[in-house]
Amino acid sequence: MARKPIIAIDGPSGVGKTTASKAVAAQLGFTYIDTGAMYRAVGLLATRRGLPPEQTPELVSLLSDLDLRFERTNGAQRVIANGEDVSAAIREHAASAAASAFSRIPAVRTAMVAQQRKMGAAGAVVMEGRDIGSNVFPDAELKVFLTATPEVKAKRRYEELRARGEDVDYEKILQDQNLRDEADSNRSLNPLIQTEDARVLDTSDLDADQVVQTIVSWAREIMASAEKTS
Ligand code: C5P
Repeated sequence: MARKPIIAIDGPSGVGKTTASKAVAAQLGFTYIDTGAMYRAVGLLATRRGLPPEQTPELVSLLSDLDLRFERTNGAQRVIANGEDVSAAIREHAASAAASAFSRIPAVRTAMVAQQRKMGAAGAVVMEGRDIGSNVFPDAELKVFLTATPEVKAKRRYEELRARGEDVDYEKILQDQNLRDEADSNRSLNPLIQTEDARVLDTSDLDADQVVQTIVSWAREIMASAEKTS
């Protein structure tokens, strides 16, 4: 029997990937995997240990000892790193920059990608990130690339952080986000790229539900045509 689909959802920060991916997974009954959270957890632990964003022996040993898991508690997905619930800490604004800086390092990518491939191998997953369709699962049945204008993206992130009680400045978010997107797109290893076979969805003028319904309808189309041919 063909495996259930892997849905890769890629795009820059602030395009609404997380909200959309979670809802798509819930509607289809698939597992949701947030790969950004994994890079954020590495960035957080490395920063706490005072490590520079370079491939040092200390970082390699942090990676080889790392026990990173997703757990569901009361319907919410928690990120557990070495037994500690880091779900809130990895969402702070400072953790974004650390994730981006450490995600460029080969040892970090190798470790995370290997774990992501294991997590998704059985299919029936929605995996969200930057390089899922281009690198982690180049044979994913559905590849979605979300985009939005820089201003819309920054406004969404601003509102999200404010809602969480962080005292943030819109202009600073816009600037940081542009820098991070540029770094993610221009790094040599697994950069953020839109593959030719990805379906592009500009979310600037869509609400969250419209984004979800579009992706779910694409997924259903693909599943129906796979059933016909099997
Ligand atoms: O998606 P999120 O904003 O949580 O990701 C945080 C950072 O992790 C990104 O800016 C990027 O540098 C890195 N990342 C990555 N590859 C992925 C997912 C995230 O390099 N697949």
